Amino acid sequence: MSATQPVQPKVTEREARQVAEAAREHDWRKPSFAKELFLGRLRLDLIHPHPLPADEDVRRGEAFLARLRAFCDSALADGLPGRIEREAKIPDETVRALKDLGALGMKIDPKYGGLGLTQVYYNKALALVGSVSPAIGALLSAHQSIGVPQPLKIFGTQEQKDTYLPRCATTAISAFLLTEPDVGSDPARLATTAVPDGEDAYLLDGVKLWTTNGVVADLLVVMARVPKSENHRGGITAFVVEADSPGITVEHRNAFMGLRGLENGVTRFHQVRVPAAQRIGAEGSGLKIALTTLNTGRLSLPAMCVGAGKWCLKIAREWSGVREQWGRPVARHEAVGAKISFIAATTFALEAVVDLASQMADEDRNDIRIEAALAKLYGSEMAWLMADELVQIRGGRGFETAESLAARGERAVPAEQMLRDLRINRIFEGSTEIMHLLIAREAVDAHLSVAGDLIDPQKALGDKAKAGARAAAFYARWLPQLATGAGQLPGTFRAFHPDGHPDLSTHLRHVERSARKLARSTFYAMSRWQGRMETKQGFLGRIVDIGAALFAMSAACVRAEHLRATGEHGREAYQLADAFCRQSRIRVEELFGRLWNNTDELDRKVVEGVLGGTYAWLEEGVLDASGDGPWIADATPGPAARENVHRPIR
Ligand SMILES: Cc1cc2nc3c(=O)[nH]c(=O)nc-3n(C[C@H](O)[C@H](O)[C@H](O)COP(=O)(O)OP(=O)(O)OC[C@H]3O[C@@H](n4cnc5c(N)ncnc54)[C@H](O)[C@@H]3O)c2cc1C
Repeated sequence: MSATQPVQPKVTEREARQVAEAAREHDWRKPSFAKELFLGRLRLDLIHPHPLPADEDVRRGEAFLARLRAFCDSALADGLPGRIEREAKIPDETVRALKDLGALGMKIDPKYGGLGLTQVYYNKALALVGSVSPAIGALLSAHQSIGVPQPLKIFGTQEQKDTYLPRCATTAISAFLLTEPDVGSDPARLATTAVPDGEDAYLLDGVKLWTTNGVVADLLVVMARVPKSENHRGGITAFVVEADSPGITVEHRNAFMGLRGLENGVTRFHQVRVPAAQRIGAEGSGLKIALTTLNTGRLSLPAMCVGAGKWCLKIAREWSGVREQWGRPVARHEAVGAKISFIAATTFALEAVVDLASQMADEDRNDIRIEAALAKLYGSEMAWLMADELVQIRGGRGFETAESLAARGERAVPAEQMLRDLRINRIFEGSTEIMHLLIAREAVDAHLSVAGDLIDPQKALGDKAKAGARAAAFYARWLPQLATGAGQLPGTFRAFHPDGHPDLSTHLRHVERSARKLARSTFYAMSRWQGRMETKQGFLGRIVDIGAALFAMSAACVRAEHLRATGEHGREAYQLADAFCRQSRIRVEELFGRLWNNTDELDRKVVEGVLGGTYAWLEEGVLDASGDGPWIADATPGPAARENVHRPIR
């Protein structure tokens, strides 16, 4: 095998975890509301009073939103959403208009030609434009949240910033290329190589899959593995690469169940020469860069989920008030009303979560990496449920396409498209299962940092003894704190029960009590399962989901009080926060119940049976039209195998 032919690394589960662990930021230099919550402490002071943006940021943000809104209004008048859906493509003139608006450089510093918007306004802009076309939202967010600008802003050299940021702000669309045919959630298997070529360059070889924007991109962030050698530290490394470099071929444009305008493809690298000056950060720091970029980048996706929730609410209100069945508008039937209440309350809470986390990101006083991850997890799951309920509320029309509705003379409501477009949010930028693991890792970090060696089967007895002493001292102090707290005192959080408003203080007390219960449950689980804790994904997932709900409840209460104090819809906001907290408490109680009363063990046995063929008879009586082709396409590197469909938009 030549040095240029990547080999798929064989990776054990333990090695995969080690790679993920090495990419983690280990330090906590700033306070974290969510981390405290998982440790059993409701640090309301970190989020209340609600942080506020600077006047200048508001002025700049609102001015851009007004321009973007005018663009969106005219796009709607021209029937752009329907056209994108029909043609499965964002028209080039739309992309040019977005460039002229400055939409490629929303978050880029004005000194590089960008708009310099805050995270709050960047997210509001994505929610707005995403409500017109989720594909446009995805294009802009892939470019700015994970594409070239963000990693360069944090890790780039001055020369790289001077070279690329002005282009990224105005004309150059970028893409982020990590995934490969055999590398999805597990980057330890990454096979694309960057082999040093002399002192000052690398040669890239490999195949990248599902490259959002990759078909039209001018610039790429590419993750590739540098082989370790005497002069090279090696490891997974990030590069900025010109998309029209010799040796790059976009072999296929992928098509999906939703986001039909996405310019997403398969990109092959064959002996692509990349100057060392285009490496971002040090060799081996690629995954850390990707994860750090996502610390705030992860907020874009839930921001667009907020937009989806608002749209669902509007359609649900307008439709269910006029559609009459069984003698009354369907909204007045309790079963439908419950869905509308769920959509309204959840949209309120989701906006509270995203705005709060975004504002905290702008202030940079708190570490928001868990909050952003929770927002992504919770936002993608909740938006999916909201869209599903909207389809149900619309009945048969919910299942019908907008085009068909319009063709027979009805309003072209794309409810089914919303569902299709939202589905991917639970898979990309960290699937729900991976987000559970990632957040759980942070949630138990305090335990692992004191007791990690104790429960690590690989550690020597001496290390375990030392860890045992450390853990005993820590838990002797920490556990008693979890027994009682402010949530048991009826008078606490009184500020959240102003006259004539629903009582939100009772919900915050519930959050406080639940946070302690959550921490106690985590501790019991660690004592019970010790080194096997990391395999208890059912348990860990529920712990994280409870934490997400508690964060959302806290954010909803803080936002309601903020709106009341500033005189904006205070009473209605209290009502929505109250509804959300009550609905959420029922879900939290259920999750707590399922921590210890579940079918996890039984499910494991059933899976063994399924994989072992014990239930093969159950599959009889149907046919499978997918045939017997390979599950994963051969990604053997080499010269281009197919036509180059790369087409930058000038
Ligand atoms: C439309 C679209 C756009 C995309 N855009 C980009 C992009 O711009 N850049 C890019 O690099 N990638 C992109 N991706 C890739 C995307 O990030 C991956 O699909 C995602 O990371 C999941 O990887 P996978 O699909 O290979 O699933 P797999 O990793 O094969 O996982 C399959 C299933 O197993 C679960 N699973 C995997 N590992 C574990 C575990 N340890 N514990 C529990 N469950 C587990 C997963 O959650 C999933 O449910 C895109 C994908 C799509 C479809």
